[in-house]
Amino acid sequence: MRKLLAYLKPYWKLVVLAPLLMIVEVIVDLLQPTLLAKIVDVGIAGQDLTLVMRTGLFMIGIALIGMLGGMGCTVAASIASQSFGTDLRSDLFKKIQSFSYADLETFKISTLITRLTNDIAQVQMLVLMSLRIMVRAPLLGVGGIIMAISINARLAMILLASVPALLLILFFVIQKSFPLFTMVQQKLDRVNAVMRENLSGIRLIKVFNRSTYEKKRFSITNSELMNNTIKAFKLVISIMPVMMLIMNLSLVAVIWFGGIQVSGGTMKVGEIMAFINYFMQILFSLMMVSAIFIFITRANASAERIHEVLSIVPQIQDPSQPDQAPLNKGMVEFEKITFQYGEDGNEPALKDISFAAQPGEIVAILGRTGSGKSTLMNLIPRLYDVNQGRVKVDGRDVRTFDFTTLRSSIGMVPQDTVLFSGTIKENIKWGNTRATDQDVIAAAKIAQADQFISQFPEGYDTSISQGGTNLSGGQKQRVAIARAIIKKPLILILDDSTSAVDLATEKKILSALKETLVDTTIFIVAQRISTVLDADCILLLDNGRIVGQGNHSQLMKNNSIYQEIYQSQLGEGVTIYD
Ligand code: ATP
Ligand code: MG
Repeated sequence: MRKLLAYLKPYWKLVVLAPLLMIVEVIVDLLQPTLLAKIVDVGIAGQDLTLVMRTGLFMIGIALIGMLGGMGCTVAASIASQSFGTDLRSDLFKKIQSFSYADLETFKISTLITRLTNDIAQVQMLVLMSLRIMVRAPLLGVGGIIMAISINARLAMILLASVPALLLILFFVIQKSFPLFTMVQQKLDRVNAVMRENLSGIRLIKVFNRSTYEKKRFSITNSELMNNTIKAFKLVISIMPVMMLIMNLSLVAVIWFGGIQVSGGTMKVGEIMAFINYFMQILFSLMMVSAIFIFITRANASAERIHEVLSIVPQIQDPSQPDQAPLNKGMVEFEKITFQYGEDGNEPALKDISFAAQPGEIVAILGRTGSGKSTLMNLIPRLYDVNQGRVKVDGRDVRTFDFTTLRSSIGMVPQDTVLFSGTIKENIKWGNTRATDQDVIAAAKIAQADQFISQFPEGYDTSISQGGTNLSGGQKQRVAIARAIIKKPLILILDDSTSAVDLATEKKILSALKETLVDTTIFIVAQRISTVLDADCILLLDNGRIVGQGNHSQLMKNNSIYQEIYQSQLGEGVTIYD
């Protein structure tokens, strides 16, 4: 929590102002019982009506001032805590944006969402409460003690017994509840995870008739959250009766011993009234302290979770002195690279790959599923870093560029296409915000998307629902291709981007790419051999290794694996239409 407090710095004026205003309210609260005692003991006892009136009016006057102080404090504390939360959220968001793919595998999306929303809300709430109650409770408590002692020191001795008892219980509860609240946040993560998975997979769930199963899965996680929350709060709530008991017992003691003193004539009625008032204030402030401490425990669990994300050093970062020179050729080289996911000891996904793609070439990557095609492509825009060897673009190691330089020259259509909610035009322009409407149409034409888009009643302004569910698989892919092309990249990577498009359309896309993006180095990942026939070079991958390299006719001549694939897909008896 302490580490997050830096976020309050810009609002230090409010942070100082809020407690100051609160002091006004507390002083008023502390003055009232004494004034009341004065009315009773002097005014009423001496039948001095003007004194009663004057003191009464004075009490109302300062009560109003106290109220203003309290309101001002709430306003200042609210502004400070909201600004604190907003800044923190935006920093957390920025941090997550800087995450590499590998970092995103460590932190699941669902936990990031909980941390961005619920956890921040907890911490923000704590700041708000602290600015009000953290000042109010101790001031009221200490002030109350002083006032109580000043009225009757002997009677105040009762506090010596009750205050430590209350503190002890408080300490015990805080100790016990911290792990419980951490658990609650984890369960909340889990609920979010299941919910997210469910909502994004809802269509699949329907097809597979798994609603009942999923409902059960959700209800299990949901009740786990409930049980854990109940457990945590049960503990917290359980101290309330005990505290009330101690408070009431002390009160009885005050009235008992005070009563004796009053009848003995050593104490006045008004004094004992004021004393009881102060006594209640003291005990009440202790209750407030306990409430806030429990809140601190909960918010601390959240703060740690936020800090955990903020303190991550992204696994892939801009170099400290990046190579600023722009890319201009689009040459891509892999030099003896080996790459593995996760920790050491895992089987590498790519082994000893060396290859060079010349500017303007069309390179096809062919290989069965899981052979490492996507992995290889992800290394070019540095979504992952190699373990051994080097990936070079325009003769320079990708690790020497800053991300903006490198990635602005690369257009990529990842294997799992994601479209954002918005219009088709917005989705395509997303690739290049400076593009004009003509650029959008031109890109769509190359991607063979113009035709189907124009057939929509609203054309390019047709809105795409979240995830692009109102487009067909092949339509989505073509919009995604247009989005990558509009960037006019030096290097274009199409990772299985035409898999949902029919062969004839695919052929049109490929030849349009070849004609219009003459200088662009194009990587086409494919499983269908028909996609790669015209490529300048075909890389055949198997189990993370290159097992064939050359153009179609070369490979047909000298590569048995390639011949096999060809036979199974396009050989005799297999027909394709043109
Ligand atoms: P496909 O044609 O099905 O897309 P691919 O050739 O693109 O397959 P890759 O996605 O590169 O295959 O995967 C290569 C290997 O790396 C596979 O064995 C896969 O299980 C593994 N792999 C891929 N992504 C990850 C990841 N994020 N974490 C761990 N292992 C991964
Ligand atoms: Mg793949």
